[in-house]
Amino acid sequence: MNIMKITPAPGAYNFQLLIKNILAYSLILEPEREIVYSNKSRYNYYTLNKRVRQLANVLQELGLDGGATVAVMDYDSHRYLECYFAVPMTGNVLHTINWRLSPAQILYTIRHAKDEIIIVHEDFLPIIEGFAGQMPSVKHIIVTTDDIATVKNNFLHYEPLLRSSSEEYTFPDFDEEAIATMFYTTGTTGDPKGVYYSHRQLVLHTYHLAASFGFVAGATGRMSSDDVYMPLTSMFHVHAWGFPYLATMYSLKQVYTGKFDAGNVLQLIRDERPTFSHCVPTVLQMLFKKEEEMPTDFSGWKIISGGAALSESLAKRALERGIDIRASYGMSETCPVICGAYIPLSCKDNDMAWQTANRTRTGIPPAFVEMRVVDEEGNDVPHDDIAKGEIIVRAPWLTQGYLHDHERGAQLWAGGYLHTGDVATVNKHNSIRIADRIKDVIKSGGEWISSIALENYIGLHPYVAEVAVVGIVDAKWGERPCALVVPAAGHTLTTEMLQEHLQQYIDNGEMSKWALPERFEWVAAIPKTSVGKIDKKEIRRLLNE
Ligand code: AMP
Repeated sequence: MNIMKITPAPGAYNFQLLIKNILAYSLILEPEREIVYSNKSRYNYYTLNKRVRQLANVLQELGLDGGATVAVMDYDSHRYLECYFAVPMTGNVLHTINWRLSPAQILYTIRHAKDEIIIVHEDFLPIIEGFAGQMPSVKHIIVTTDDIATVKNNFLHYEPLLRSSSEEYTFPDFDEEAIATMFYTTGTTGDPKGVYYSHRQLVLHTYHLAASFGFVAGATGRMSSDDVYMPLTSMFHVHAWGFPYLATMYSLKQVYTGKFDAGNVLQLIRDERPTFSHCVPTVLQMLFKKEEEMPTDFSGWKIISGGAALSESLAKRALERGIDIRASYGMSETCPVICGAYIPLSCKDNDMAWQTANRTRTGIPPAFVEMRVVDEEGNDVPHDDIAKGEIIVRAPWLTQGYLHDHERGAQLWAGGYLHTGDVATVNKHNSIRIADRIKDVIKSGGEWISSIALENYIGLHPYVAEVAVVGIVDAKWGERPCALVVPAAGHTLTTEMLQEHLQQYIDNGEMSKWALPERFEWVAAIPKTSVGKIDKKEIRRLLNE
């Protein structure tokens, strides 16, 4: 096919999609609004812009003139936000370090990414100091601290460096395909894998969030320019799902929590009144637990839950507290947001079962995301919400591979689609429901049992505080489901009680009878991964021991 391409007029400016334009707009709408750092500091958008320029000068004075990688290891903070902008806007690459990884994995990522500068919170400094002599690419370590009196003299320090740097900096234009950010994701096997995103991708993802979370009339959980934004996902994890870029573009009041502490978060909710947040379900569970001793008014708070399946029981607890909650879906490789539950406000407002069922669906893909659910031959499964297949996806903001790892990158992109490794069904309204990670599906006697569905049904028992289901090796059936259950405070559960509870879902046809677990383990806590999700690999290891 022939196409006709534009011939630009002499002097026509080829505008690139650069992160600097996100920050530039923050001075247009509501620049007096505040960016709050826990109970420690607050400033407005003029100051944010000034400090980003100062940080750019710091990087330049330390010898970086683009193409270098700058790692950050911090709690969620205003300083992290400054790095989100200053590092890529100077043509360098921001590496967000997951400080919950093991020291050996952190060192691997620093060496693999060839970090030249590490900006590190003093709490994590001992880890970095432990790597002395093993980080050949690292030229400078800059320490951030909330209390300058506690710092050690033999390091560079963030605040004094900023203070002594010029407030003038003109951010250059360059190719929008320049890499802006990168970070590592850990699989069940092998070394961590580096994913990376360009300026263009992050700008498009920001616009996509604005449209998908703002434009759809009557949908719940919308974000708008008068929201107060408080992320409850770590900023090292997929740019806090990209929302800090959107919040900054429209100069929303933003609240960063610092080191996570449920009591502090509840206090911030009381004091700063956030209206829009996002988190993994575990974080919400922690807040509700803390709320038992610290009653808090949650009304008017919108929460996007992602990173793991949102159970109906947790959605119900949130709705009962006046929280407008819904699920969304994505992964490290997808920037991340590629899907979200869609519930028009008008729908069955007073029907709690309908609300929780729909708010917890993985949802529908937004515009510009081509999402398919395919069987092993690559054919689309019927949209009957029964047939299962793998979610594969194309979108403008997906990682184009893994850093310095063509082999695993090619596996990710087999056949020209990004393979998510998630198994799902689709209903006739194009709404997807994740049944499991491929490796977590329980294969029992030739049948596939969804561990997520089982967790959902078990979680609906009023005495269940938390639950995780995994497959364990079984001589007769290959695998059988086993449920780890944390009973609610002051309650005792038995296998018979839970089997009786599950029988209702078998009787009404929602659950197959062979999905009924014979084995339940009562535990005080469920093992979690470095990003706060149920650690099924670890649970399987413990149970199969
Ligand atoms: P990560 O790369 O650590 O962000 O993990 C991404 C994975 O989290 C996905 O591949 C899914 O398995 C899981 N996940 C994310 N969102 C959801 C959701 N709404 N429901 C179920 N699983 C989810």
